[in-house]
Amino acid sequence: AELSADVNETNITRQVLNASFSYVTPRIPSNPKLIHATKEVAQMIGITEDEITSVAFLDLFSGKKTLPNSRSYAMNYAGHQFGNWAGQLGDGRAIVLGEVKYNNQNWMLQLKGAGSTPYSRRADGLAVLRSSIREHLCSEAMHYLGVPTTRSLSLISTGDEVLRDMMYDGNADYEKGAVVCRVAPTFIRFGNFELFSAQNDLENLKKLADFTIKYYYPEITTDGVEKYIQFFHKVANKTREMIIHWQRVGFVHGVMNTDNMSILGLTIDYGPYGWLEDYNPDWTPNTTDREHRRYRFGNQGDVALWNLFQLANALYPLIEIAVPLENVLNDFQTKYTKDYIQMMRDKLGLKIVSKEDIKLIEELENVLILSETDMTIFFRELSRVKKAHTPGCGIAIIDDAFYKPEEIKKNILEDWEKWFKKYIKRLKRESTSDEDRKLKMDAVNPKYVLRNYMAQMAIDTANKDDFSIIKELHELLKKPYQEQPNSEKWYAKRPDWAREKIGCSM
Ligand code: AMP
Ligand code: MG
Ligand code: MG
Repeated sequence: AELSADVNETNITRQVLNASFSYVTPRIPSNPKLIHATKEVAQMIGITEDEITSVAFLDLFSGKKTLPNSRSYAMNYAGHQFGNWAGQLGDGRAIVLGEVKYNNQNWMLQLKGAGSTPYSRRADGLAVLRSSIREHLCSEAMHYLGVPTTRSLSLISTGDEVLRDMMYDGNADYEKGAVVCRVAPTFIRFGNFELFSAQNDLENLKKLADFTIKYYYPEITTDGVEKYIQFFHKVANKTREMIIHWQRVGFVHGVMNTDNMSILGLTIDYGPYGWLEDYNPDWTPNTTDREHRRYRFGNQGDVALWNLFQLANALYPLIEIAVPLENVLNDFQTKYTKDYIQMMRDKLGLKIVSKEDIKLIEELENVLILSETDMTIFFRELSRVKKAHTPGCGIAIIDDAFYKPEEIKKNILEDWEKWFKKYIKRLKRESTSDEDRKLKMDAVNPKYVLRNYMAQMAIDTANKDDFSIIKELHELLKKPYQEQPNSEKWYAKRPDWAREKIGCSM
């Protein structure tokens, strides 16, 4: 009620002025079926396990029926896409059902793929099963890895067919439609602020900023200009923390446009994301970004800064002095570098803060790149190295991570020996025992992540109406840091068939 609404209740594509959102009704699916629900998310919002299998659950989270006394809506936002101003975008295939309060926390429920909205532009507002499985599994995997993210309550097939260009062969194909229900405190993005700023609609810009601060940054109690500066600073901090987590676990978002940047620093909009397999800072999961590689693994910190700069520009009219905004951006840069080094120290099990670690980390990154080494397996196995080991022993411990062991022997063995010599020497400076260090390292270096081929296997079987892999992976990824002896098969390098990374479109 505090934000301006567009009350023209049709789903016809249009430019929407002076409004933060438009009322819309989800499309009625022809034959909805529950594929999978996350009982932890259900619990979090007050839904019991029994209720998950009820008709009411299916009706609500497939978009068939809305809640009594509620009005569903799509949000209006703009954004920079791949570095260019894109104007109004908005929720083209996302509809907020409403907000629930449970255990004193508020949660927004949002359907993705429930039909067109005023913001659908030339697309259909629908989602395919393939991308819905990827969003459902990855949101939950990220949560259990300790990465700030939106959650996924349910994955429901609609019974309707959706027309899509398959990235694999370029031919149009019909695919199964699905709806995911995402859950987060809010889905407000950088792009919501950019929209009003670009329209020179300062009244709504201020309304939106005040609203966001009041409900999502209530700890900010200053007034006037100071309030918005603090707000920007907090958003920058949360964004930085999120990206450092991405780098820690090897997650590449793939579409870090400003409309996909949550104002709460949550990972949002799982599209053509991917997980690093061989450690490669240039790796870019989004096949449409393979030329410029803007959204490559190693660029995510810089892109976040670029996006924050766009947010600063958007908030500028509320502040009208550049220096404090510039200070926040400089602070982001300084702290990002510092946090990154610290995060890598943690991954390496180094407790003492030593300046030389920067070099040790750089040299590790270089040799990892040279030798096509699986990131997850490397860091997980590294915790088994002991202070008393020789460099050769260190290499033998992590050698399962090499994709091309033959090449290592020929060319890069010397580099690895050099690195392990340094690393083991460095470990000896630590007072922590080998056992304690292993425990600490295993708590930051996951054993199980949603490798691209794993999601693909879940998709391929689901397309044959077998949802067992979805269930299996969902369970597995709830304990990514724990040993799961019965699931060792998922602790393996990418198989050869998945080597030319699976193309991921939306
Ligand atoms: P994304 O890259 O998924 O974040 O989407 C960018 C913009 O395109 C957002 O405004 C989306 O709502 C919109 N969009 C993406 N896919 C569809 C679709 N199938 N139908 C309507 N709008 C879409
Ligand atoms: Mg998006
Ligand atoms: Mg070995």
